[in-house]
Amino acid sequence: MLITHDTRCALDAVVALVNTAPDRVRDGDGAEDGLATVAALTDFVGKNDISDVGVLAERDLVAVRAVRDRFAEVFAAPDPHAAASLINELVAAAGTTPRLTDHDGYDWHVHYFAPGASVADHLAADCGMALAFFVVAGEQERLRRCEAPDCGHAFVDLSRNRSRRYCDSRTCGNRLHVAAYRARRKEAAG
Ligand SMILES: [Zn+2]
Ligand SMILES: [Zn+2]
Repeated sequence: MLITHDTRCALDAVVALVNTAPDRVRDGDGAEDGLATVAALTDFVGKNDISDVGVLAERDLVAVRAVRDRFAEVFAAPDPHAAASLINELVAAAGTTPRLTDHDGYDWHVHYFAPGASVADHLAADCGMALAFFVVAGEQERLRRCEAPDCGHAFVDLSRNRSRRYCDSRTCGNRLHVAAYRARRKEAAG
């Protein structure tokens, strides 16, 4: 599967976006929203290199959180049909305008967000199309959630054989290995 630079950036952005949601599984009712304030959203936009969105306001925050909820559903979609209809709605609502660009020395690629789009529409358009690419390639199942019991973070499995089960092998994968190792030791000792 060929993944262009921009698709990769959009995938990183959408995974980061979904994972800013308050994690009630892990943190209970006190779970914090990673996008609680306009300042947090501005920080997110900077870190993910989302260009041309201007000065952000409270309404951007509300709109981005709504788009985040829809993207969370895409990662939880049971099959390509469910993912496709969610992505279609997101992309259509964003007023998408495909156009070719070779900005900043990158190879030719397509931007989907309309000129002057809000940050929410920008994310819905370009991240939506990045996810659409997986449905088209018959790879919707690569859009996953971490299997560690107290995690559930969204991630995109880009491994060759679609074998990745954890959002991060160093933390979640390793944590599970350690837990399994301890359980085996306990069994052996008991
Ligand atoms: Zn670009
Ligand atoms: Zn995880």
